[in-house]
Amino acid sequence: MDFQPDAGLTAFREEVRAFLRTHLPAELAGSQHGVRSPRAALVRWQGILNDHGWGAPYWEKEHGGTGWTPQQRLAFDEECAIAGTPSQDVFGQRLLGPVLNHFATPEQKAEHLPHIFAGTRLWCQGFSEPGSGSDLASLRTQAVRVADDEGDHYVVNGQKIWTSYAHQADWIFLLVRTDASVKKQAGISFLLVDMKTPGITVRPIMTIDGCHHLNETFFDNVRVPVANCVGGEGAGWNVTKFLLNNEHAATADLPTLVRFQRQLRTLAATLRVDGEPLIRRPAFALRLARLEAELQAVSMMVQRVAVLEQDHSPTAHVMGSMLKIRGTELQQKMSEFLVEALGDYGAIAYPESHDGEGDALPVPCAHMGPGIASEMFFRRASTIYGGTSEVQRGIIAKLLFQL
Ligand SMILES: Cc1cc2nc3c(=O)[nH]c(=O)nc-3n(C[C@H](O)[C@H](O)[C@H](O)COP(=O)(O)OP(=O)(O)OC[C@H]3O[C@@H](n4cnc5c(N)ncnc54)[C@H](O)[C@@H]3O)c2cc1C
Repeated sequence: MDFQPDAGLTAFREEVRAFLRTHLPAELAGSQHGVRSPRAALVRWQGILNDHGWGAPYWEKEHGGTGWTPQQRLAFDEECAIAGTPSQDVFGQRLLGPVLNHFATPEQKAEHLPHIFAGTRLWCQGFSEPGSGSDLASLRTQAVRVADDEGDHYVVNGQKIWTSYAHQADWIFLLVRTDASVKKQAGISFLLVDMKTPGITVRPIMTIDGCHHLNETFFDNVRVPVANCVGGEGAGWNVTKFLLNNEHAATADLPTLVRFQRQLRTLAATLRVDGEPLIRRPAFALRLARLEAELQAVSMMVQRVAVLEQDHSPTAHVMGSMLKIRGTELQQKMSEFLVEALGDYGAIAYPESHDGEGDALPVPCAHMGPGIASEMFFRRASTIYGGTSEVQRGIIAKLLFQL
């Protein structure tokens, strides 16, 4: 591996920085909290990106995206995290968009892609069910096909759980069982469902971070046009594998780690203990240095996976699982250190959500972003969502040892 920074990539990063300096409105900077920013900030930022031709950083050029390489996408994400831009709609842009570009009918593309581009149709992901998380293929939400006066429909009954942002989403992409008589993977279909359809009930799950991101989503005789099935009936497992396999280099969530590092450095320089900046405390300085070394290691691994991904190497898959474990464990360590560094103020910051809601409290360095303790609690979940650490270890063992 060449450790010298690629000149083209350095120039690209500078272009992104210059764009952010000029186009990121001051009032939007710092509004990147949680997984998805509040709708107003998200739509405005999406518009600014679109005006610049950068509205779809994860899509191929032929589909109206930027056509960036995995390394360019990483650089863009990192610079956005450092500048504190609002997020895009992770579910629509990053997960569903590439799926629609690859599998959808022309009608499905015409219906959904313009809204994803504009940020005007927010999505959520309806995969997990009680009893079907890691073992997703065992899902039981049922879709029965019927033909009547209103045309061909599926009638959907069942329950999803841990549905992030279902309470704010306009549509959901949903895995359902359309055939119980075949091998479990073969009987699954991928449906696009309008959240306003009668029969859908969303109930909040409040989490330890004091926020409302998660929900239970119930389907009670929900009618979904057959035309909303992506990739054809029974193709849902293939579609899902494509969706989940999209970006191995992104599993570490490097932009979040970079944001934590920036916050720690701000605290180190500005928080004073006995009249001296925190960084003068040897115990603090040593721990910060260790975490920064770990971050550097993860960052190099991310670059390596991005290169492997660019070369379509099968090793990217196993490296992605390793990165998921290392990156999410580091997220937990860094966010815990942030709270500890705040001392007593760490506890005060707890009730403040990190999703952009609520008033700022008079804590030191409040401008760094609210809800530091809330964020630390949220990151407990990072080793669960997107595939648990135990499951990632299973994937690594299987692929490395060809079990
Ligand atoms: C914050 C958050 C947001 C989420 N958002 C969404 C969302 O938007 N949409 C959605 O569909 N889902 C979402 N999820 C659900 C997430 O995908 C599941 O929680 C995850 O897949 C684990 O499934 P489970 O919770 O059912 O745990 P289980 O699969 O029941 O696992 C329980 C325990 O058993 C272990 N285990 C399970 N199988 C194995 C194995 N084969 N080998 C070793 N150990 C194993 C696990 O590691 C875990 O420790 C979210 C979860 C969280 C925490």
